[in-house]
Amino acid sequence: MASIFTKIINREIPSFTVAEDDKHYAFLDINPAARGHTLCIPKKEVDYLFDLSAEELSELTQFSQKVAKGLDLALEPIRTGVIVEGMEVPHAHIHLIPIYTPTQNFSLGKKISMDEGEMAELAETISKEIRL
Ligand code: AMP
Repeated sequence: MASIFTKIINREIPSFTVAEDDKHYAFLDINPAARGHTLCIPKKEVDYLFDLSAEELSELTQFSQKVAKGLDLALEPIRTGVIVEGMEVPHAHIHLIPIYTPTQNFSLGKKISMDEGEMAELAETISKEIRL
């Protein structure tokens, strides 16, 4: 069965798109740990990040770097942090989480609340700053 992220890539489930190329997709995490929390995924459905080939992992990393640079420009955090966990959704993904203060709780367990309108506006703001 297709993963929820494959369904998002195929537009069977809605998402707040941040960036897309032929092999990758980036979208806002629906339960953000911070404003601009973004997931970068390969379109190829592989559960475990480190089961990607070296080339695929490198390409996903380079895609994530471009998305992170866009987050930095759009939202001006101190920097953008990275978490890889993958215990909830069996489709490899890299969490990009902007860090706004030195004491920000940097954890997937800590969520903020944003409504759909804010998420849509945020995705558009970020996408304008990403150069693929
Ligand atoms: P994990 O697999 O633990 O690394 O985390 C999976 C992440 O996917 C969580 O942060 C969820 O909030 C996020 N997530 C799950 N379903 C969706 C969805 N439909 N749209 C956006 N993000 C999602």
